[in-house]
Amino acid sequence: MGGQLEITYWGVRGSLPVSDPGKIRYGGSTSCVEIKADNGTRLVFDGGSGISSLGNACMQSGLPEPLPVFITHPHWDHIQGLPFFAPAFIPGNAITFYGCNQGEMPFENVLRQQMQSPYFPVDLENWAADIAFEAVSETEVNINGLTVRSTYVEHPGMTLGFRIEYGEKSVVYIPDNEPFAKFPLEKVFSEQGAPGDELDMESVFLLDQKEKFFGFIGDADVLIHDAQYTPEEYPAKTGWGHSSFELTVQTALYGNVRQLVLFHHDPIRTDDEIDDMVDRSRHIAAEQGSSMQISAARQNTSTTI
Ligand SMILES: [Zn+2]
Repeated sequence: MGGQLEITYWGVRGSLPVSDPGKIRYGGSTSCVEIKADNGTRLVFDGGSGISSLGNACMQSGLPEPLPVFITHPHWDHIQGLPFFAPAFIPGNAITFYGCNQGEMPFENVLRQQMQSPYFPVDLENWAADIAFEAVSETEVNINGLTVRSTYVEHPGMTLGFRIEYGEKSVVYIPDNEPFAKFPLEKVFSEQGAPGDELDMESVFLLDQKEKFFGFIGDADVLIHDAQYTPEEYPAKTGWGHSSFELTVQTALYGNVRQLVLFHHDPIRTDDEIDDMVDRSRHIAAEQGSSMQISAARQNTSTTI
């Protein structure tokens, strides 16, 4: 099977939707990405405000049966569009939501509660479509020839990243992540653990984490990853669960990714500043002799791999 995947960015912003002048070119809606395979299968990742535009497009095109929607975590910028997702209100549509429990709170309740009074006037019982909830953790879901793997990432609360595989193609979607936040980065991006090396406990743990994470993102055709901060901002934001673009580029290079897409743009970031982040990211890659392609996610654009 050959297989092509089309990636469409319906929302690319982190934290808060914005509509200020100077931020329109990259777009102001929060996280929502659609991946469509050439066998007609569509997958949706996150329900930020961008999912309302996707919903409007679905009202024209109709829904596949059922539409899978994967939620990385329930921070507002990843679910705030769900109450405005028009296909959920239409009888005859079918939608399956996948996401992880939050401690003792089941995944279904996590989504249900954001639509309860007094937070929203229309509760989830008003969704007339056939809605299913699948709680997942670190697992693999197969949908019409596509495989979606999930792993937990470094972000407050329980947060998933997803790897989508179809034929020879692979896309990794990790919108919120501060990889290896607990470790010194010079240790993360160096080789340790050769046979015969004496390793302390921290190094053994790090090696285990590296194997897991780089095994997950490794050799991806496309990595869509958190790049919320600049390296100048990052020291004041360390531990908040987001990456600087420098950390993201280093991570992608170490994972031998072919194409990196900077994602989850900070609400303060202007279009020109995002251009600058891309330029600086490309410079970091070039300095290391890499041909990895780097761009920043732009709302209402698609790429096919
Ligand atoms: Zn977020």
